[in-house]
Amino acid sequence: MEKDIKKILAECGFGFKKQLGQNFITDKELLASIVEASGVRREDTVVEIGCGAGTLTRALAERVKKVIAFEVDKSLIPVLERTLAGLDNAEVVFRDFLKVDLAEFESGMDGYFVVANLPYYVTTPLIMKLIENAEKCKGLSVMVQEEVAERLCARAGTAEYGALTAMVALRAECEIVKRVPRTLFYPRPNVDSAVVRFTFGRGIEVKDKAAYKKTVHAAFSSRRKTLENNLVNTFKFTRAEAQEILSKCGVDLKARGETLSPEQFAMLSEFIK
Ligand code: SAM
Repeated sequence: MEKDIKKILAECGFGFKKQLGQNFITDKELLASIVEASGVRREDTVVEIGCGAGTLTRALAERVKKVIAFEVDKSLIPVLERTLAGLDNAEVVFRDFLKVDLAEFESGMDGYFVVANLPYYVTTPLIMKLIENAEKCKGLSVMVQEEVAERLCARAGTAEYGALTAMVALRAECEIVKRVPRTLFYPRPNVDSAVVRFTFGRGIEVKDKAAYKKTVHAAFSSRRKTLENNLVNTFKFTRAEAQEILSKCGVDLKARGETLSPEQFAMLSEFIK
């Protein structure tokens, strides 16, 4: 497989585009384990973001009902014509997934899972797009830079915990299901990666999501400042008002944003409102 893919890419004259994060997976065992770790089943429809040379697309298509793969780079067309040959359940859509209208896309679909091996710059916007707007997404399994994986699954009070972690908690629970060394990508990137699996529908109870989002972003607007200072700056509270809100929520006046759990942010956002 590994040799075949490299040969096909070379024969098609494909030039890797670093700016699109094009580090492909060629290792057959790794592909099988990513599909396994994603938890998808025979009856599922999978949306793959960034199919590259189609190796993961093929591994998925052999295991599920249908794969709809998005890819921005049209120069992969001749490669994909060869790597996906003979599959009648894999469709490639040449569009930037970040620009896809999710409501329109989902209107023609039942539930689906998302599986992706993402470039760094797409990770946060894609996850936020799905967390905030996807109605029919049942689960998400993404390969990201190991450091981002740690942040996504971080616990309150740790250095990795941040706005992204607290936002994800709105909608999903996530866990690192596989660590992948850089040596298994072609070409080899400068960082190691990890697969994070999100289970949608296991988020925390929040009455007003917009207020929660604003509170979380305020809390992390400056990590060096106390929560009180960040609330004063963002919401233009007086110091006394900010202190009263924090006391009502049982939060230490000297606390920083990263010490609050998503549940505490939910309570705080209600008081702020
Ligand atoms: N899935 C393949 C694999 O695992 O070998 C390719 C992974 S590679 C890290 C990421 C792919 O995503 C690249 O082929 C890149 O062109 C594509 N891509 C980058 N941004 C994208 C976007 N916004 N929408 C769709 N595809 C994108």
